[in-house]
Amino acid sequence: MLAAETIFEALLAKDYTAKQLQRYEQLVNESWIIPELRKVRNFHAGFKHGRWLGLINTGFQFLTGGRAWGLFDRAKATAGHEEMKKLSAYCYRGDNIEQRYDGFKFDGKIAFNKLTDVYHAAVGHSEDQPSHLHVLDTNICSTRCAEEYGNPCQRFCPAAVYEMVEDGEAQANGRRKLQINFSNCVHCKTCDIMDPYQIINWVTPEGGGGPDYKGM
Ligand code: SF4
Repeated sequence: MLAAETIFEALLAKDYTAKQLQRYEQLVNESWIIPELRKVRNFHAGFKHGRWLGLINTGFQFLTGGRAWGLFDRAKATAGHEEMKKLSAYCYRGDNIEQRYDGFKFDGKIAFNKLTDVYHAAVGHSEDQPSHLHVLDTNICSTRCAEEYGNPCQRFCPAAVYEMVEDGEAQANGRRKLQINFSNCVHCKTCDIMDPYQIINWVTPEGGGGPDYKGM
């Protein structure tokens, strides 16, 4: 609504400059949004050292209107993608990342596979709209990302949107190609935040598309 108000004012003034449209930022800052978000400003950073310290920290934040450990206005935080570790960091354990979770069983009662979750989220996008997930350089997915990080988008996306698939040309070079199943997207924006190369841009899809969490 605040964006609509901004657009309406811009139309009345026939002024679409950045200066006029800055009104949106001003309206957001003056709205209930900012006080509400301030109370949870340190929530994510509070869990940097694990679940138990995070829960204690959250208690302090709850009592002090969002202060980290009840004392600090702003906790030190790093961007999510900067926390992503390369495959080489795991080699000493001898883990095969590709097979690490293969033994995990989805019993359909308490654990569900991703596509069942997508179905339960009643996700809907018209299939012929342009993808709202923009990957700026898919060549990186087939080359650097596959080698350095093992294409983590396939794992951190909860909706199986990203798949590395066999493809004629890429396959000839021993590589796989990125396929984006955008109509599965549940709009969590994890990919935009966690992609180690910051080449995924989540943009707004066509109106009405997305998950429809009834009865949550
Ligand atoms: Fe997957 Fe979430 Fe990104 Fe959609 S926004 S593609 S569900 S990680």
